[in-house]
Amino acid sequence: MSIREKTFSLIKPDAVSKQLSGAINNRIETHGLQIIAQKMLWLDQYCARMFYAVHKDRPFFGELCDFLCSGPVIAQVLRGENAVQKYRNLMGATKPEEWADGTLRKEFGEDLCKNAVHGSDSSENAALEISLFFSGFEVFDC
Ligand code: UDP
Ligand code: MG
Repeated sequence: MSIREKTFSLIKPDAVSKQLSGAINNRIETHGLQIIAQKMLWLDQYCARMFYAVHKDRPFFGELCDFLCSGPVIAQVLRGENAVQKYRNLMGATKPEEWADGTLRKEFGEDLCKNAVHGSDSSENAALEISLFFSGFEVFDC
């Protein structure tokens, strides 16, 4: 575990369209994570399928990719001590019935699909996901 560990965050189309990005960023920053890269973009099917390729054989894959392409998203790199786990804790669980009070998904999510935010599940996947969205010059890891 590094004090400068990085993780990848995506504010999903449901949260962006409800103008919740400022509130989410405030929660990220007060939780001890630093936003060291950020951009808004609208993903196409190709990018959504590549991003969620790990789920390509799951029954919800098509619906998930359609949702991800339904409007702009905000891609971010977060840095801090134990950033991957720290952000997963702030996000909340995958299943809505397990969303704990105080988590981003509990506060801002709607359901299993429209759950406001994505966060990497390991440092290795964080590096992969960051490399899909950002070039080295765009990440202020200094
Ligand atoms: N998802 C879904 N149906 C499911 C499981 C997941 O629509 O039965 C969506 C949900 O938006 C979730 C994403 O697929 O955030 C990726 O699933 P994963 O298991 O990686 O959950 P996460 O890491 O986002 O908690
Ligand atoms: Mg996941």
